Amino acid sequence: MINYLKNLNESQKAAVVHKEGPMIIIAGAGSGKTRVLTYRIAHLMNQGVDSFNILSLTFTNKAAREMKDRIGDVVGTSEAKNLWMGTFHSVFARILRSEGSHLGYPSNFTIYDTQDAVRLLSSIIKEKQLDKDKYKPKQVLSRISSFKNSLITVKAYYNDPELIEADKMAQRPKMGEIYHQYVERCFKAGAMDFDDLLLRTNELLTRFPEVLAKYQDRFKYILVDEYQDTNHSQYLIVRALADRFQNICVVGDDSQSIYAFRGANIQNILNFQRDYDKVQIFKLEQNYRSSNNIVQAANSVIEKNKTKLDKEVWTENSEGPKIKVMRTYTEGEEGRFIADSIFDNMMNLQLKNSDFAILYRTNAQSRALEDALRKKDIKHRIYGGLSFYQRKEIKDTLAYLRLLINPNDEEALKRVINYPMRGIGVATVDKLSVAANHYKISIFELLRDLNNYDLNLNSGTKNKLVGFITMMQHFQIEAQSKNAFEVAEFVVKQTRLIRDLEKDGTPEGVSRIENVQELLNGIKDFIEVQKEKDEDDSLAFFLEDVALATDFDNDKKDETPRVSLMTIHLAKGLEFPYVYIVGLEENLFPSAMSMNTRSELEEERRLFYVALTRAEKQAYLTYAQTRYRWGKLVDCEPSRFLEEIDEKFLEYLTVKESKHTQTKFINEDIFGSVPQNKIRFKKPIQRSPAKSKTAQKIEFQPPKNLKKVTNPASPKANLFDNNIVVGNIVNHTKFGKGEVLSVEGNGANQKAEIRFASVGVKKLLLQFARLTII
Ligand code: ATP
Ligand code: MG
Repeated sequence: MINYLKNLNESQKAAVVHKEGPMIIIAGAGSGKTRVLTYRIAHLMNQGVDSFNILSLTFTNKAAREMKDRIGDVVGTSEAKNLWMGTFHSVFARILRSEGSHLGYPSNFTIYDTQDAVRLLSSIIKEKQLDKDKYKPKQVLSRISSFKNSLITVKAYYNDPELIEADKMAQRPKMGEIYHQYVERCFKAGAMDFDDLLLRTNELLTRFPEVLAKYQDRFKYILVDEYQDTNHSQYLIVRALADRFQNICVVGDDSQSIYAFRGANIQNILNFQRDYDKVQIFKLEQNYRSSNNIVQAANSVIEKNKTKLDKEVWTENSEGPKIKVMRTYTEGEEGRFIADSIFDNMMNLQLKNSDFAILYRTNAQSRALEDALRKKDIKHRIYGGLSFYQRKEIKDTLAYLRLLINPNDEEALKRVINYPMRGIGVATVDKLSVAANHYKISIFELLRDLNNYDLNLNSGTKNKLVGFITMMQHFQIEAQSKNAFEVAEFVVKQTRLIRDLEKDGTPEGVSRIENVQELLNGIKDFIEVQKEKDEDDSLAFFLEDVALATDFDNDKKDETPRVSLMTIHLAKGLEFPYVYIVGLEENLFPSAMSMNTRSELEEERRLFYVALTRAEKQAYLTYAQTRYRWGKLVDCEPSRFLEEIDEKFLEYLTVKESKHTQTKFINEDIFGSVPQNKIRFKKPIQRSPAKSKTAQKIEFQPPKNLKKVTNPASPKANLFDNNIVVGNIVNHTKFGKGEVLSVEGNGANQKAEIRFASVGVKKLLLQFARLTII
């Protein structure tokens, strides 16, 4: 058995061996939070706690698997098997499978991914004959998502005049109706979207005390990694489950809270001490990941944030090289510089591709980088792009399987009813959808009893529909005696999916066929792995696994070392020896959409902190002077974050074109005797956030009628009045003076609970509240 206590410093050890009761580990990046959480679980088990009684929630399923493996190394693999570990979504999806019937869901409910949800919203918007430019399905979905994560049900929505007013102001007065329809249609289809997995869990635990008691009893120890990024819905679930035993251990770093835009609430970590009695606080401050230069540079940036807990991050690691900064003329050149640099480093230092990561603010930046890596034949992998399971041919195949498991899954049915083509047109499908809605049944049920309904279909169409439903029923019968792989293979053969793809004849067509075959291989593999672990190997479970898979889950089999490309958001918790952070330009990073309030800008700064602290040995920061954005070439200014790093940690590289147009990058001072870093940012950076065409494209800007106030902390800054924080005393035009008790949401959805002397506590939507901070 590994002596894990030996691999911990004193503060880490104290947190690992701490006995019962609520505890919080607040610690800087790379200080061993995840390690402590892992060893704490192993330690609990060593002390005789049954693995069955431990629940651990992580940011990705991959992180959970790695932790489980490590715990297995200490306590034995079979012991670690019963641990409940995973993301909030995967753990609670599992609970909802067995308990969802309380809420009227079948145990085989489908999980709608974002694409399914957007498609459903598109149909609803179309059926309601609404303007799809005003009701952009993706935006409508993100609004619905923010309702759900704040536990605002349809009923609560209609009871909140401010929400209704906000949607009216945003030119979307029918939002409530759409929300209502969307919830009903998902329910009728036996489907939950990602947010439902949390919302319904909350509903389950609130409405059914016996269910709550059962899981409270079971999860005697609860541990949560990356607690700073939990949203309100997740927070409530944890609090409910931990209420009985109060053995709750949360781990996080307020400086790495980067998901406010998706409803994460940094207050969850800041208020932990208020939520539980006798909280033990542990601080870890020694960073084991990065060189001293990187740690110090990251500190010098994050200290510009006003909202943060007091902690010092330091390291005993060697000084390391300075952070290299590279300015290029174009994004193409930026890509080439990085490819060359990776290549050189690999050659000179005998490194592997997997020692490198390229991190960016937005997915769109990956294209230029990928082109450059491909040209130099550097093996790489893009995370977070279109994942394998989102490719059309894969989604089509999976839709058949989903429909088999859950015949009411309407999005799946719509995908395959005319694929491969069998002459059932869009008009017919629309007709079926409207009729099914009218009769309050699913399209599948409607088709099954087609003769009982007068749908005014011609006999040709009717025959085709009968043909389709008969085929599906045939599949259902076959599925009873076949395993997941055999069913999938049978369906692919019978539906002639492959033959349809073969007709295409193009290289893309061939690769689509390979993908479908790969999917079948994947199912086979899944069965073997599950069997080995003695876990559920059913098709239903496979589909759930797939619905909640992140990109990281797909590289299980790929052993080739590759350079990782991903957004900074995705890189949370990870580490790489060499990290390139690209596109350090104003309006890109920090993002143009996050410059309106101090809190948004602070979140961007935390994001930069996360990026920098991923690096172990060396970090590179790059920026281009021009870049294509939204199809137009725009001039870029260097990011303020470059200026914020203490310059003693930086070293500037410059570029020289050689005769053969091959770009050469050298480390020289083109500014002669004046150290470059002295003049690089001499000129005050002109920061007009709404500069140029780019700003017009931005959605969800605060409405123009917002009253501006001067932020007392920074007299020159004109900030919108939604920069209020808990504790502010404010004046409301109607209610008078009040104290801010809590603030939630952000942007146009930001709300605050305020105690007014005149009317008591009120919850107000800040964009309409007309508040001034006194
Ligand atoms: P993040 O904030 O990025 O999530 P973290 O605080 O979770 O980071 P870990 O990922 O647990 O930090 O640890 C960072 C690195 O330091 C890992 O490679 C880990 O193995 C190593 N490490 C942590 N503690 C120790 C220690 N006591 N001795 C040696 N290495 C350590
Ligand atoms: Mg971690």
